[in-house]
Amino acid sequence: MQGTVYKSTGSWYQVKSENGEFYDCRIKGKFRIQGIKSTNPVAVGDEVTFDLEEGVEENTGVIKKIRERENYIIRKSVNLSKQTHIIASNIDQVFLLITLNNPPTLTTFIDRFLVTAEAYAISAVLLFNKVDTYSIEELAEVKYLAELYRGAGYECIGISAKNGKNVDKVKDKMTGKTSMISGHSGTGKSTLINAIEPSLALKTSEISKQHSQGQHTTTFAEMFDLSFDARIIDTPGIKGFGVVDMDREEIGDYFPEFFERKQDCKFHNCLHLEEPKCAIKDALEAGEIAWSRYKSYLQIMEGEEDNYRIDQYQK
Ligand code: GDP
Ligand code: ZN
Repeated sequence: MQGTVYKSTGSWYQVKSENGEFYDCRIKGKFRIQGIKSTNPVAVGDEVTFDLEEGVEENTGVIKKIRERENYIIRKSVNLSKQTHIIASNIDQVFLLITLNNPPTLTTFIDRFLVTAEAYAISAVLLFNKVDTYSIEELAEVKYLAELYRGAGYECIGISAKNGKNVDKVKDKMTGKTSMISGHSGTGKSTLINAIEPSLALKTSEISKQHSQGQHTTTFAEMFDLSFDARIIDTPGIKGFGVVDMDREEIGDYFPEFFERKQDCKFHNCLHLEEPKCAIKDALEAGEIAWSRYKSYLQIMEGEEDNYRIDQYQK
């Protein structure tokens, strides 16, 4: 049988079969899959082939095979073992909730998040939340940021999770897909889930409670079906999107507006720093690429603390 993993407890996996029934599945003996080595062989979101187990309890099975993952997000343990844990896989899109204040979401944070999403090959949609609270000036800033990020290739929607503005647009985007919802604490993730589906909001908050009570905040992602052909992956306790190992050479490729122009750089391996005849810096001077995006690029290239060259490019 074929199915999708909705939940994992470490040794058991809750798999929803194509006929809509749930099965408690496990893996037996040595289980090898291609790709990365991780502490968990099977993750939420995995599409699996499993056999029913006869003569045991009802609706139990054994996972035989995992379809190659479209993408996955990981967490690396901080201890020396550097073990990798796959948090979830086969994610169609992530919604990033952004607020101008309470809390402020900085463009450097947005850009880092988007770079990670690109590195993971997960498409991102930016939701500017709490538009019901903004002044004329703040609304102008939302408009400016939305245009900036549309120019970089991202879909942007202004919403109010509280009064429901454009929540139907978000639901439309979710239809037929598996989504994640991210953003700083306080940006309105729970409020949005509640606006989309109140029964789900209850469930996810119960899970968060369970986790915050525990000594160790072990993270178990879980997938939920919505009432309108959409799925949400909830990852309690996970801040942001994890960290991806990137080479300096590839970081520019995760800025879509850089990537689409880089074939016009004089050097095919141009890092868009000091090189002459750089199409990215030309586009920057021409106002086609935002300075804030380039600043974030430099920051990521140079590492967190170092503000190397940023002043020079500040306008
Ligand atoms: P989370 O930490 O991301 O889950 O954020 P919450 O959903 O708990 O929201 C944090 C606070 O912001 C709560 O007091 C919400 O009522 C409020 N909030 C969320 N969305 C909106 C919105 O669109 N408009 C307004 N005015 N308040 C909102
Ligand atoms: Zn260049």
